[in-house]
Amino acid sequence: MDFGLTDEQRDIRDTARAFVTREVVPLEEEMLRRERTGEPALRRDELRELQSRARRFGFWGMSTPEAYGGMALPAVTQSLLWTELGRTPVPFRFGGEADNILYEASDAQRAEYLLPTIEGERLGCFALTEPDAGSDVAGIRLRAWRDGGDWVLRGEKTFITFGDEADYAIVIAVSGSAAREATAFLVDRKMGWTSRPIETMGSWHTPAALTFDDVRVPASNVLGEVGGGWELAMRWIVRGRYVIPSQAVGTAERCLHMAIAHANTRVTFGRPIGERQAIQWMIADSEVELEAARWLALRCAWTVDQGQPARHPAAVAKLYGAGMVNRVVDRTLQIFGGMGYTRDLPIEGWYRAVRVLRVLEGTDEMQRMIISRDLLRGYEKIGGHLA
Ligand SMILES: Cc1cc2nc3c(=O)[nH]c(=O)nc-3n(C[C@H](O)[C@H](O)[C@H](O)COP(=O)(O)OP(=O)(O)OC[C@H]3O[C@@H](n4cnc5c(N)ncnc54)[C@H](O)[C@@H]3O)c2cc1C
Repeated sequence: MDFGLTDEQRDIRDTARAFVTREVVPLEEEMLRRERTGEPALRRDELRELQSRARRFGFWGMSTPEAYGGMALPAVTQSLLWTELGRTPVPFRFGGEADNILYEASDAQRAEYLLPTIEGERLGCFALTEPDAGSDVAGIRLRAWRDGGDWVLRGEKTFITFGDEADYAIVIAVSGSAAREATAFLVDRKMGWTSRPIETMGSWHTPAALTFDDVRVPASNVLGEVGGGWELAMRWIVRGRYVIPSQAVGTAERCLHMAIAHANTRVTFGRPIGERQAIQWMIADSEVELEAARWLALRCAWTVDQGQPARHPAAVAKLYGAGMVNRVVDRTLQIFGGMGYTRDLPIEGWYRAVRVLRVLEGTDEMQRMIISRDLLRGYEKIGGHLA
């Protein structure tokens, strides 16, 4: 058993770390200032400029196939890079990416949606959740019916990330007699859907509610097959389940570094607080949970690279990683005392931002449901691939 990184993995990880440290971390102070005044952390043009700079470092299209100019990195390497990005609260991501299911695009859709998205010229959003259907996605009601050469879409979506900024939406709509008979559509904003931002605890990537009031969509804008929307939606959701814990590991590592530095320098009652057992135990617990989450995320990514089904390890890693980062950020805030609660440091922002990780792309409860069902029905063995 080898728990080490290959030379290539280490090189790419270190280069990403150098990029984040040199180019992204210095933006944190300005980001905090903008948060206090309600401005966006990174405007779209600033994000694109930073992504072009990352491209010069070699980071472009982590998950994008080489045929589209991407790196097509193995999942383990992608996991390592998401951890590097998680170290900073600046909402930066490498460019050259598109939603995994957009590769189902036809030739015409490729030119109109996939390629401009990879280039960063167009922004899409993925719209599945509805006011009455979140965890229970089989309850979606946004309907699509044929009318001549078009489809007509009527209904609501909600909590859609990038929904207020996106140029187009990948919409999962009921196209048959049951919710599971769903189809994915590529729907341009100019076709007539409207959006309304939803204020949340987090400051960035405010989600939006989308309204489709008899929006006409050409039949050529069906993504994949008619009736194939359910399978595409599940594929989209499962991908995020190793990205989230990988990023969570980076955030927790950065917080733990900050907590240790503060514990060693903050003096109370004549001694650094790091000499008190109460503080030491918070640091120890954070380290243990951080390491556990790291290996769960990497094991999930490794499973993907083996071409094996990853639903179970993804649910385990997502559940644990999301909880872990919430606990580590909370302990870090506690170790910083009053300073931790201020907006001069990124800790309180992280405290609000990481909370959503226990909700989106499958709540804690849904992950527990998947994990226990797999075991109770014998779909998975205790001990996984080592069993
Ligand atoms: C910031 C943000 C961004 C998002 N981005 C997107 C996006 O881009 N695209 C998209 O489609 N969706 C998006 N979502 C939606 C997200 O996926 C849903 O909010 C999530 O799946 C939960 O659904 P819900 O909010 O309807 O909660 P509900 O399903 O109503 O659940 C409420 C509570 O009940 C629990 N619960 C539900 N059923 C059961 C059960 N059977 N047993 C035990 N407990 C249960 C849940 O775990 C939860 O605690 C986003 C949400 C947020 C907050």
